Amino acid sequence: MEPTEIINSLAEDREAYFGAVAPPIIQTSNFAFRTVREMREAIGGEFIKHVYSRGNNPTVEILRKKMAALEHAGDCLITSSGCTAITLAVMANLRAGDHAVCVERCYSWTRHLFTEILPGFGITADFVDGYDTMALKKAILPNTRLIYLESPTSWTFGIQDMRAVAALARKQGIITVTDNSYCTPLNQNPLDMGIDIVVHSASKYLSGHSDVVAGVLCGSEEMVARIFRSEYMTFGGIPSPFDAWLMLRGLRTLEVRLERSTSSAKQLIAFLEQHPAVERIIYPFHESHPGHSLARRQMRDGSGLFSVILRTDDPLAVERFCERLRHFLLAVSWGGHESLVLPAVGLPATHSDSGHGLPLNMVRIYAGLEDPALLRADLEQALEEIGMKYV
Ligand SMILES: *Cc1c(COP(=O)(O)O)cnc(C)c1O
Repeated sequence: MEPTEIINSLAEDREAYFGAVAPPIIQTSNFAFRTVREMREAIGGEFIKHVYSRGNNPTVEILRKKMAALEHAGDCLITSSGCTAITLAVMANLRAGDHAVCVERCYSWTRHLFTEILPGFGITADFVDGYDTMALKKAILPNTRLIYLESPTSWTFGIQDMRAVAALARKQGIITVTDNSYCTPLNQNPLDMGIDIVVHSASKYLSGHSDVVAGVLCGSEEMVARIFRSEYMTFGGIPSPFDAWLMLRGLRTLEVRLERSTSSAKQLIAFLEQHPAVERIIYPFHESHPGHSLARRQMRDGSGLFSVILRTDDPLAVERFCERLRHFLLAVSWGGHESLVLPAVGLPATHSDSGHGLPLNMVRIYAGLEDPALLRADLEQALEEIGMKYV
């Protein structure tokens, strides 16, 4: 089924709710039964039946079916945040004494999970440069049970060869997990490349309006059922039916939003790359990017998020540039309607890692849905803070 059909009609049973075009928000915690037998059968099959909204809720279920179809997955789970999806995928597949290999420069709280939380449960991890599949292979120990990827990573857009990593992991019975938030299922489908579990922060493009924090976990039906019956039901990191509904609403426009954001980012990059105040662009679909050809092989397109290295060694000039922008908001996250900047100098040096080691003249830029000409003019006027000394 094509994404358009999945987004607009899959799993919607309109006859059951008065022909309503928008699905209902079934805001209930529990579901009642007519007979004890019905109750017993439902509790025994909670993965598909309706018993209690910590498990399965009809509004969330519509979203679950759409996301599984979009990611070419057997099934999926919707979670209260991207971090919940990541934690479920990782903790459901590691036990005391196990080892994990994780890509360097992954999302900061993913790193925190591996470096600060899992060691307390007897699980160790090593971080490797994801470009180098050989280095990744060398990091595998006899007790390695999981490889965690994020392609592209969300500051430096490092790319990992997912087909190669999945193939070598399969041979050794190692589970592979990929964070696919940057691409969305429209631009990349890691399960088709042999990856076992895909996780998303749905707070970004999937919801798309900066009003929801949610996550998605996709995999085989067997994997998803196992996680549902154990960690999902126990940790209880579920979205509210209302948040699931907001996500359904956001999904309706995913195709046009992603297209606009990506096309605006490319226009801004074309302007910035010839600007004297810009030293370098970091974008997976830019020829200068070290992962460019691999990105073209496994992604359908880039997205609206990229980084620039400004031509200055003065962190205060970077701060002035960010504060002078009128249409780009100074905020974390991305994937919403609004354009954003996040400078490396905006992260405290102690931040669990994403700030750590990033050059202080690096700024991450997200192109939202505003008129690209307005965004370009805004960058141009703010770059005077950097450019004056050099032009
Ligand atoms: C935001 C983000 C996360 C975390 O998701 P939340 O929904 O904020 O919990 C994970 N990975 C990436 C790449 C992200 O950008």
